[in-house]
Amino acid sequence: MSRSEARAQAVFEITTGEAISVAKPKSLEEIWASDVFTLAKMEQDLSKSAFKAMKKTMETGAKLEPEIADDVATAMKSWALSKGANYFAHVFYPLTGASAEKHDSFIVTDASGKAMTEFSGSLLTKGEPDGSSFPNGGIRQTNAARGYTFWDPTSPAFILDTENGATLCIPSVFVSWTGEALDKKVPLMRSNTAMNEAGTKVLKLMGEENVAPLNSSCGAEQEYFLVDSTFANLRPDLLLAGRTLFGAPPAKGQEFDDHYFGAIPERVQVYMEAVEESLYRLGIPAKTRHNEVAPGQFEIAPYFEAANVAADHQQMLMTVLKNTAKKHGFICLLHEKPFAGINGSGKHVNWSIGNSTQGNLLDPGDTPSDNLYFLLFCGAVIRGVHLYGPLLRAVIASAGNDHRLGANEAPPAILSVYLGSEIEAIFEQIKGGKLDGTGEKGIMDLGLSQIIPYAKDSGDRNRTSPFAFTGNRFEFRAVGSQQSVSGPLIAMNTMLADSLNWIAEKLEAELAKGTDKPAAVVAVLKELMTAHSNVIFGGDGYSAEWHKMAVEERGLKNLPTTADALPYLNDESIKSLFSSTGVLSPVELESRYEVYSEIYILSINVEAKLVIDMAKTIIYPAAMRYLSEIASTSASVATMGIALDTSTAKTIAEQANAMMAAVAKLSDTMLKEEFTTTDEHMQYCAKEIRGLMDEIRMHADALEAEIADETWPLPKYREMLFIK
Ligand code: ADP
Ligand code: MG
Repeated sequence: MSRSEARAQAVFEITTGEAISVAKPKSLEEIWASDVFTLAKMEQDLSKSAFKAMKKTMETGAKLEPEIADDVATAMKSWALSKGANYFAHVFYPLTGASAEKHDSFIVTDASGKAMTEFSGSLLTKGEPDGSSFPNGGIRQTNAARGYTFWDPTSPAFILDTENGATLCIPSVFVSWTGEALDKKVPLMRSNTAMNEAGTKVLKLMGEENVAPLNSSCGAEQEYFLVDSTFANLRPDLLLAGRTLFGAPPAKGQEFDDHYFGAIPERVQVYMEAVEESLYRLGIPAKTRHNEVAPGQFEIAPYFEAANVAADHQQMLMTVLKNTAKKHGFICLLHEKPFAGINGSGKHVNWSIGNSTQGNLLDPGDTPSDNLYFLLFCGAVIRGVHLYGPLLRAVIASAGNDHRLGANEAPPAILSVYLGSEIEAIFEQIKGGKLDGTGEKGIMDLGLSQIIPYAKDSGDRNRTSPFAFTGNRFEFRAVGSQQSVSGPLIAMNTMLADSLNWIAEKLEAELAKGTDKPAAVVAVLKELMTAHSNVIFGGDGYSAEWHKMAVEERGLKNLPTTADALPYLNDESIKSLFSSTGVLSPVELESRYEVYSEIYILSINVEAKLVIDMAKTIIYPAAMRYLSEIASTSASVATMGIALDTSTAKTIAEQANAMMAAVAKLSDTMLKEEFTTTDEHMQYCAKEIRGLMDEIRMHADALEAEIADETWPLPKYREMLFIK
C-alpha cells in the first residue's frame, strides 16, 4: 500500500470505527492510593516506633535512623509481594527530564539453591544504577562512572503496573560517586530547605515563636494533544520528534472557539477516565479536566501537593498519559508545539509557600494591606523575579519551548510579574513609603436575589503574563508541557530563599532601630520596590509595545531562544545565588549547563536530519509523481488539440526545486563540527539550522496546497486535529 493509500485507509477506519465500550468507573474509595505504600499502610505494618519516625520524616523532613529502613523494607516487601510485584526499582530523575528506573528482583538463592525473597534496609536505602548511561555534564570521568541512588522517604513508594508486570517503585535521589547531584530531586529538596531556613528567619523576626517547617507547594496544569495512532504511524516526524515538521494549517482552526470547554469527545472521555483511574491508584489527585484552546488539545490538573511529591507525581502523570493513550488508539503528544500555527501546549506551575502554623504565606486574606506576612513573601517573589528573571527563563528553555516563548505566542520570553490591580496598588503605595490600606473588596452584585453574592477577586486574570499572581499563589505559565516541574520549582524556591535572606537582614536592622513592625516592613519593602518594581507589569505581554518598553525602559531581558537563555546559567550572579543558598555547587551548576545545551543541540540536529529525510524521500517523490501525472495528462489531451494551463505544474516544479535547494544547503550546514564555544554552537543551531528547516517547510507546505489530495503522502492537519 502506498503512503497516500494508507492515509486514505486510516481516514476510513477512523470514521467508521466502533465506539470503545465504557467500563463503569470504580468508586474512588475503592481505588484511591491502592497502589501506594501510604502512611496509613505503614501504621498497620510497621512497629510503633518505626511508624512514628517515618511519619515525622515525611511531615517535617526530620532525620531518619538507618535501623528504621530495615523495618520499612520488610513491610514494603510483604506489601509489594501481596500486590504481585516481584521486582523493585529505585526511580530517579536524571537531567534529561525523564524518569529512570533500574529493576531488581526480590529473589535470592541460598547455598542449597533454594529461592527466597529478600529486601533489606540497605537495599531499600541505596542502589547503584550504571551511572555512565545518564548525562552528567562532565562531573564524572568515564572511568569513574559510578552513580548512586538513595531512597527519598518523603515521597511514598508505589506499585507500577505495566504490561511487563508489577514493580515496586522507590522514589530516589541520584548522585555521583563524589556526592554531586546528577538529578533534579536533590536540588529541589535543597531549595526547599534553603527557602525554609530563610522564611523561618523572617517569621521569627516578626515575633513568631512557633514556626513549623515551611514547604513549597506545586499544582501543575498539564496540556497535551491526542492524535489517532493510525495517523501518527504514518508521520515519522510525530513518532520521532513528537511534532509535525511539515503540514499546512487547516481551514478550520482554533478560530472556532467551540472547542474550549465544549463537550469532550466520547472517545477522549473514555481515555481520560482510564487515565484518572490509574492516577487515583497511584494517589495522584487528578482534579480538573477539560478541552483546551486548540482542536485535539486537552488539559489535566491534579490538586496541589508538597513540591517534592508533586514533582514525582507529575513525572508519573506524563507516563500515565502516554501509556494509556497507546491502549486507546491514540498517541499523546506532550511536545510544546506539535502543530505550527495552532496553539501550543504549556504546563502552568502553580506555586505557593506555607506551613502548618502560619498557613499559606501567599494568601492575602480579606485585607491584604494589613497582612504583613503576605506583603513580605509577595515582595520577596517580586525581587526574585526581577533579579533572577534570566534564570527563570533558562530553566524553561528547550528546543520545544522555543516555539512558544520566542514566537508570537503566549507567554512572552520576557519575565515580568502580574499582581492584579488591588495588590499592585498596595505595592505602589509601599513604594511611596506609606500604606493606607485599600478600599473594601467589591461584592459581585448581579441584581439577582436568588444568586448568592460573592466577594470579587482581587484582580482579573492576565493570560499574557508569564508569571502571574492568581489569588493565593503564583502561576508560572511559561513552563513547557513536556518539562519536569523540578527546574522551575528549584529556581523559584532558591530565588525566594535569597530574597527572604535579604529581607531578614534589612528587617533586623530596621527593628534594631526601635521601629515598630508595620513601619519596619514598609521601610524594607519600600527599598525593595524602589529597586525592583520595574518587573511588575499588568498590561498585554504579547504586544510589540511591551517588548520594546520592557527592554529599553525597564531594563528587562528578552531571551527568545534557548541559545540566548542557557548561557545565563554561567552568569556570576546565578552561580553565587546557588552556592550561597547551598542548592547547587558551581560544579553542579556548570554540569547542568553542559547537559542542557547538549540536549538542545542534539534535538535540533535530530529534527534537521528528519526534515532532510522526509523532504527527500516522502515529499519530493510525491511532487514528482503528481507532476508526471499532469505531464502525461497534458500530453494526452494535447492529442485532442486541447492545451492545459501549465501554471500549477510550474508552481509545483518551482517549489520542489526550491525545497531541494534548501535541503542541500541544510545538509551542508550540518557538516560544520568545529565551534569555539558551546554558546556559539547553540546559536548556530538556533539561527542557521532552524532557519533552513523553516525554509524547507515553507516550500513543502506550499506543495501540500498544490498537490492532489489523493496523492499527498502524509496525514493532514485537518485529519489529525479533529478527533472523531
Ligand atoms: P486555572 O483556573 O488556572 O486553569 P486549574 O483549576 O486548572 O486553574 O488549576 C489550578 C492549579 O493550581 C491546580 O493544580 C490547583 O490545585 C493549584 N493550586 C490551587 N491552590 C494552590 C496553592 N495554594 N498552591 C499551589 N497550587 C495551588
Ligand atoms: Mg487551567
